[in-house]
Amino acid sequence: MKIAVLPGDGIGTEIVAEAIKVLKVLDLDLTLETAPVGGAAFEAHGHPLPPATLQLAMDSDAVLFGAVGDWKYDTLDRPLRPEQAILGLRKNMGLFANFRPAICYQQLTDASSLKPELVSGLDILIIRELTGDIYFGQPRGRRIATDGHFPGSEEAFDTMRYSRPEIERIAHVAFQAAQKRNKRVTSVDKANVLETFQLWKDVVSEVGKQYPDVALDHMYVDNAAMQLVRAPKKFDVVVTGNMFGDILSDAAAMLTGSIGMLPSASLNAKNQGLYEPSHGSAPDIAGKGVANPLATILSAAMMLRFSLNQPEAAVLIEKAVDAVLSQGLRTPDIYSAGTTKVGTREMGDAVVKALAQAS
Ligand code: NAD
Repeated sequence: MKIAVLPGDGIGTEIVAEAIKVLKVLDLDLTLETAPVGGAAFEAHGHPLPPATLQLAMDSDAVLFGAVGDWKYDTLDRPLRPEQAILGLRKNMGLFANFRPAICYQQLTDASSLKPELVSGLDILIIRELTGDIYFGQPRGRRIATDGHFPGSEEAFDTMRYSRPEIERIAHVAFQAAQKRNKRVTSVDKANVLETFQLWKDVVSEVGKQYPDVALDHMYVDNAAMQLVRAPKKFDVVVTGNMFGDILSDAAAMLTGSIGMLPSASLNAKNQGLYEPSHGSAPDIAGKGVANPLATILSAAMMLRFSLNQPEAAVLIEKAVDAVLSQGLRTPDIYSAGTTKVGTREMGDAVVKALAQAS
C-alpha cells in the first residue's frame, strides 16, 4: 500500500509528522513517500504542484495531505498560488466526492460554540461535490462590462454549472453513505434562484427513488446554514455542491469544538483518495508547536478505512483519539478549564501511546 505524503506549508508539516508517527505504530505494510506541495513546492521548484508530486499522488493508493498556503503568496499570479495545488490534485485525480464528518466528542461539548445540549452526541456527515460548480466553471475572468448596472466598468465573472451525470454520481454516494448510517439525506440547494440548483434538486430526487429505504428532504442553503447552528442533530447526511459545501462544512466544524478536530476524505470512482484536515495552514500559529494534530490523525484513519481497506486499524486510531480526550489532554484550540494543555507533539505522542496500549 503506497501513500503519498504531502505535508505542504504552515502547520501542515507539524500535523502530518504526528499522523505519520501514529501510522507507524500500526503493524501495516505501508510505503510512505514524501513530496513538496503548495508554497514549499513553489519555493523549491517554482510551481505549487510540480509534475513529480502529481505523478507520485496519481501512482499512490492514497494521499495524506497537510495544508497549503500563506499570506505571503497572495500577490502571486493565481496559477502559482499554493491553493492551486489542491485544485490540481482534485481535478487530475478526479476526486469528486468530499466526505466531512462532523462528530462532537462527548469530552468536547464544552469547546463547541453552541450549548452542550445542541451538540452532545452530534454525528453528521457533509458530502460536498468537489470537481464542479462555480469553482471550476468556464468561462470566468475579468472584462469591461457591456451591459448590467454599470456598462463600461471593469467587472469579474464566474460560471456556475453542473451536468446531470455529475449530480447523479454524488447523489449515489450520498444515498449509499446514508444507508450505512441513519438513512436520511438532506440535499442542500438554491433552486428558488439558480437554474443549476433546480437541475441539482430534480436529479437528486430522481436518484433518491432508487433508494426507498433512505428518506430525502431538500433545503435551501440559507435555511441549511440556519438549521446547522439551530438544531444540527436534525441532520444525518447532507449532500450539496462545491461552494455551498465549502461554507457549510466550515460552519459544521465549529459545532465540533474546533476546526482542528475535523478530518476529511476526497474520493474518486476507484476509491483512491486524498485525506486532509478540513482546516488550512494556519500561518498565525505555524511553528509554535500548538496546532491540533487530531484532524490529520483522524484523516489518516479515514484513509485506512476508505482507500486501504483496513477498517480495524481505523477503529483503533479513532479509539486512541477518544482515549486521549478522556485523559483530559487538549491542544489550546480545544482547551477548557480543568483539562491539561498540551502541544502538537505531546498530543501525537499521547495518541501513539494509547494506540500501543490498545494494539
Ligand atoms: P485556517 O484553517 O488555516 O485557520 C483558521 C483559524 O483556525 C486560525 O485561527 C487557525 O489558527 C485556526 N486553526 C486551523 N487549524 C488549526 C489546528 N489544527 N489547530 C488549532 N487551530 C487551528 O484558515 P485561514 O486562516 O483562512 O487560511 C490560512 C491559509 O490556509 C490561507 O493561505 C488559505 O488559503 C489556506 N487554506 C488551505 C486549505 C488547504 O490546504 N486545504 C484550506 C483552507 C485554507
